[in-house]
Amino acid sequence: MIKIKLKDNSILEVEKGTTILEVAKKISEGLARNATCGEINGEIKDLRYEINEDSELVIHTFSKEDIEGKKAYWHTTSHIMAQAVKRLFPNVKFAIGPSIDNGFYYDFDVEKPFTDEDKLKIEEEMKKIIKEDIKIERFTLPKKEALELMKDEPYKQELINELPEGEEISFYKQGDFTDLCAGPHLLSTGKVKKVKILSSSGAYWRGNEKNKMLQRIYAISFPKASELEEYLNLIEEAKKRDHRKLGKELDLFLFDETAPGMAYWLPKGFKLMNILIDFWRKEHEKRGYQEFSGPQLNSSELWKTSGHWDHYKEDMFVLTDSDGKEQALKPMNCPNAIKVFQSKMRSYKDLPLRFNDIDVIHRNEKSGQLNGLFRVRMFRQDDSHNFITEEQIGEEIKDIIGIAKYLYGIFGLDFELTLSTRPDDYMGDISLWNKAEENLKEVLDELCGKDNYRINEGDGAFYGPKIDIKMKDCLGREWQMGTVQVDFQLPLRFNMSYIDKDGEKKTPILIHRALFGSFERFIGIMTEHFAGAFPTWLSPVQVKILPITDNEFEYSREIKERLEKEGIRVELDERNEKTGYKIREAQLEKVPYMLVIGPKEVESKLVAVRSRKNGDEGAIKVEDFIEKIKKEVEEKIK
Ligand SMILES: [Zn+2]
Ligand SMILES: [Zn+2]
Repeated sequence: MIKIKLKDNSILEVEKGTTILEVAKKISEGLARNATCGEINGEIKDLRYEINEDSELVIHTFSKEDIEGKKAYWHTTSHIMAQAVKRLFPNVKFAIGPSIDNGFYYDFDVEKPFTDEDKLKIEEEMKKIIKEDIKIERFTLPKKEALELMKDEPYKQELINELPEGEEISFYKQGDFTDLCAGPHLLSTGKVKKVKILSSSGAYWRGNEKNKMLQRIYAISFPKASELEEYLNLIEEAKKRDHRKLGKELDLFLFDETAPGMAYWLPKGFKLMNILIDFWRKEHEKRGYQEFSGPQLNSSELWKTSGHWDHYKEDMFVLTDSDGKEQALKPMNCPNAIKVFQSKMRSYKDLPLRFNDIDVIHRNEKSGQLNGLFRVRMFRQDDSHNFITEEQIGEEIKDIIGIAKYLYGIFGLDFELTLSTRPDDYMGDISLWNKAEENLKEVLDELCGKDNYRINEGDGAFYGPKIDIKMKDCLGREWQMGTVQVDFQLPLRFNMSYIDKDGEKKTPILIHRALFGSFERFIGIMTEHFAGAFPTWLSPVQVKILPITDNEFEYSREIKERLEKEGIRVELDERNEKTGYKIREAQLEKVPYMLVIGPKEVESKLVAVRSRKNGDEGAIKVEDFIEKIKKEVEEKIK
């Protein structure tokens, strides 16, 4: 008998050679039915895997939080898609077909791009293969025989040739279709239930434009029809909310081909950004942050000291100045914050010193990777560099996470923290690392609760541990947002110091932190999160006044002036259009409030309020309306 330690720490004794599936059955029929793969001592295996020694076992299923479980399910579906394509297009050559965050794709070498009709046929064929419930089998071959088996598949041959000598190469076979694959896979095609082809596009073999263009099909699958439907609704909704589309419709920003990856902020969009910056600025000032601004260009000397020249030059815009000196546009603010620190002799009494800045920074991103406001070449990070003593790590991190919690709360965003710890190629003093990691864990235990954050062992930067902040928007999509990075190395590279209690020079510790990530990206995400209907405090235009005829112009202008005096952002629509039309336009602009002014309002000295949230709210006094808006802005009501 061998001992199997399960996820809940309980121990199950089973015969040697018991498969993962059999263990699942012993736990419950339901688990066995839903299981997609297992993890033996941290290694992902098929359900057919026989356990021969005492082991720890996690059984994965297709469920929201179970990434491995979904991967096995989706990857199995990618083989089903490949088999379907083979049946319909016998001359196809196969490249790769991995699972991704949402579903999977497969790259095919075919004569022409797939048409919509082709895709429908492929989906139908996939459904047939699922119905046939073909057994999926695994076998291994030595390299030579593997190459022989794949003799008509040049891409597979290329992959096999890259595998180390002497390794047994695994294949998965389902009926007449065999694929080179490391697994894991479900045990038969019938385990997959609902499939949907989503889209197709050209894709270069290995992402390299010098290689052949292949045809990629994206698809997804689910155990239940309701889950598929929910997913399809979600992508429909996400399309409607696409910030590139809304940015244009709401007049917020634009991109021009003469400046790829660099947004033009139109007046309304820039208003929104400035409101966000004001808010951010005030919140940081309250918490002892000091804002500075530094140069855009620094000579290569600075970037050599910081290490960017050796490790990051590809991503920087480099140019030569009139003295023939090499200069680079800053891709990050850290070295300039260090220069500010070094402008004076610093004492332990000065620390922590928190230098934040929102200077524009530039990164030479590949044009193929640019994506609206999500991936840009020019942006403003909500950056800060906090310089602290060793003893202050815990407190400072706690403080930073506290700010993040407050800021995200304002937008109604849930977030999750991930701690990344010391990698193998770390630099610096191991005892300092241990102490810092211990401090970070204590803080996270306290702020999130012991098991309410993730730990990525060994995933920290070489210069220090870090905490990544992921947010979830209202569609449940996850976004990598802020990051808090402890850095033991950069202060050493710049020979930074402060005078400690004992009069000795010491090196401070640096924390790099950005909570929104960048204002550009954050506005992109918020545009989608709110579907363009920003809360009143953030709306570039808060109120639109709509006089019914020109008889009400004078009174309307009076109201406009009164609101403006109170700091309310207001527009007056004096166009000669029907009121219904003006209302519809203001609705499309997603303005939180409209004031419709007719003869009755002029006479009674009231305003008829229409809100984005509740529609017609009736006529009230102007001062009451002002108070209502001010309260909403003050409390940042969502
Ligand atoms: Zn596979
Ligand atoms: Zn930095």
